[in-house]
Amino acid sequence: MKVLITGGAGFVGSHLAEAFVARGDEVTALDTGSQAKVRHLLGHPRFHLVVDSVMNAEILDGLAAKADLIYHLAGVVGVEHYVADPYHVLNVNVNGTQHVLRAAYKHGRRLVFSSTSEVYGRNPDVPWGEDADRVLGSTSIDRWCYSTSKAASEHFCLAYRRLGLPVTILRYFNVYGPRLDQLDVGRVITIFLGQLLRGEPLTVIGDGTQTRCFTYIDDAIRATIAAGLVREAEGQVLNIGTDQETSIRRLAELMIELGGGRSTVRLVPQERVYGDSYEDVPRRIPDVTRMHRTLGVLARTPLEEGLARTIAWFRGAKAAAGQSDGV
Ligand code: UDP
Repeated sequence: MKVLITGGAGFVGSHLAEAFVARGDEVTALDTGSQAKVRHLLGHPRFHLVVDSVMNAEILDGLAAKADLIYHLAGVVGVEHYVADPYHVLNVNVNGTQHVLRAAYKHGRRLVFSSTSEVYGRNPDVPWGEDADRVLGSTSIDRWCYSTSKAASEHFCLAYRRLGLPVTILRYFNVYGPRLDQLDVGRVITIFLGQLLRGEPLTVIGDGTQTRCFTYIDDAIRATIAAGLVREAEGQVLNIGTDQETSIRRLAELMIELGGGRSTVRLVPQERVYGDSYEDVPRRIPDVTRMHRTLGVLARTPLEEGLARTIAWFRGAKAAAGQSDGV
């Protein structure tokens, strides 16, 4: 099978590409970003990297014509982007998705779209089934631009579904693992990792009681592959994740335990990190019933195990980069 993955050189995309190549499929990754996460795949005869953007509709059209199955994973993600450059987030996420949808529809290709647990916002009524309400703050709070961009993209997907496009929407819950982000940037686990590996305090924002369900990449990939192959997934919206809830404070403590260093936990006020253009989500938990029923997949990697593997991978990568900031 020929699989096109937009954002195929990103964190989830690179793992997905690797898994499809291992299955014996042929993968084309479309990505503008760094090639670091797919370097190990570059020489493989069934892996092709096209360095271009989903904003380029012509390229997409040509690639969609040649694919049997399309995954649209390209997007701008990371709280630092939501706060620093909301235009970029909205433009790429909404307009890029429209280009992908148009190409998939034109060529009659099955599409899997990667959305996010952020679409539920801060709905206090956890766990969230896929039909749960979206509870978001004001548009003057930049943080919500990502959630909004993905929700608008979901609406576009569902509109195309009405026209007959076989599309599946996946809402990922805090996926982590090797190759996540660069140390010190991006999501909480890579920020904590940078601090941990230098023996510095881990900066827990607020009081650390806010929770997330950290999903190990291998579990997310099993579900993502099934979503592209299982017929029952067509037309569905699915939460993808674990329902094991962990507070950020506990995450920090666990990472310190597993990392075996001299780091401590330091609580920092939220405004000091993000300014006033940010609101945190107090609890985020998926209902995974539909994922299990539709895809036959449940997350099975305990947080301790996933974190241990992630810490070991980043340690190795850091050592290989010779203490430079190349990780
Ligand atoms: N967080 C933290 N310290 C940091 C970075 C993030 O305590 O240095 C918290 C953040 O406030 C949020 C959680 O970790 O409550 C997860 O943040 P992340 O940016 O990974 O993504 P989110 O799940 O909020 O989209």
